[in-house]
Amino acid sequence: MVEELKAVFDPRGGYWQAGGKFMPSIIAELGHVIEKHMQKIGLLRKPEMDEHRKALIDQKRSEYEAQQKQQDAFAKADYPQGAQLCLKCSTAAVVMMDGCMTCLNCGDSKCG
Ligand SMILES: [Zn+2]
Repeated sequence: MVEELKAVFDPRGGYWQAGGKFMPSIIAELGHVIEKHMQKIGLLRKPEMDEHRKALIDQKRSEYEAQQKQQDAFAKADYPQGAQLCLKCSTAAVVMMDGCMTCLNCGDSKCG
């Protein structure tokens, strides 16, 4: 959720926050605030996913969604129906990919 909030980009442009930090939108700032808070209370670990991993997740996710579309054209959920709850990010986004249980939200995989 935090990443999604931060990714929101205000089409009117952003603004500079006190302290010289650029915020693309108020929603994005909200994401930063929540993230900071979660890091503070220890819910979220600081290291961000590297680009390679992000790209891998995107790829896996679109692959899976393409498969799902063929099977069920009416699926409306963000994550595939029948996805299991991820113990790492508490999102029902864990699906079987290439024989591995893989989380489409945080990229956690049983096969490393
Ligand atoms: Zn996860």
